[in-house]
Amino acid sequence: MADSAPLDFTSWRAAFVAALDAGTVSDVPCGGCTACCRSRQFVTIAPDESDTLAHVPKRLLSRVPQSLDGALVLPYRHEDGACPMLGPAGCLIYEHRPRACRLYDCRVFAAAGVMPDQPLIAERIRFWQFDESTVRRSSVRRARDYLQAGVAPLAAAVQAVVGSAHPSEGRSGRASVAIAESTPLTKRPDSSVE
Ligand code: SF4
Ligand code: SF4
Repeated sequence: MADSAPLDFTSWRAAFVAALDAGTVSDVPCGGCTACCRSRQFVTIAPDESDTLAHVPKRLLSRVPQSLDGALVLPYRHEDGACPMLGPAGCLIYEHRPRACRLYDCRVFAAAGVMPDQPLIAERIRFWQFDESTVRRSSVRRARDYLQAGVAPLAAAVQAVVGSAHPSEGRSGRASVAIAESTPLTKRPDSSVE
């Protein structure tokens, strides 16, 4: 895959922002990869995700500490760091998976030149190559600034990429808020869940 033509940053970003704005699906060609499901991450599920909540055993869910809207979290398995809904052939609830999973697009790291702090995902993103357009370079610079300011890698990458998508329309702001509020695959210390 690394030998294929670089991804077009502008068209990828347009689709990424549109998915964030609409809360739909990031169309990532994952193939057989399940790296983000095995990376010791916690998946937040919002109260309005009734279809997802109907398909996840209640015993697996915990309340998000300090959440005002009653969001729940699906913690990873301590023994192997995988999501408890991950089966031998992939996600057991794929058609009903959380919004955070549907929106997660590891290509954002490669697009913004940011290294994730999860080794499996870091390995996976080596296969995504983007063009070196001016607009992409400005996103990479912005991501570097966010990282230097102490922003976490995923948030830095998303904000850097989305921030230049629709500067005059305010959509970038909504998308940033959407990803921040949905807390896609947010990593939390083990002690944060009761
Ligand atoms: S790490 Fe990327 S390619 Fe792998 S499953 Fe997650 S989103 Fe798909
Ligand atoms: S719910 Fe499914 S897609 Fe989401 S992290 Fe778990 S196994 Fe992966």
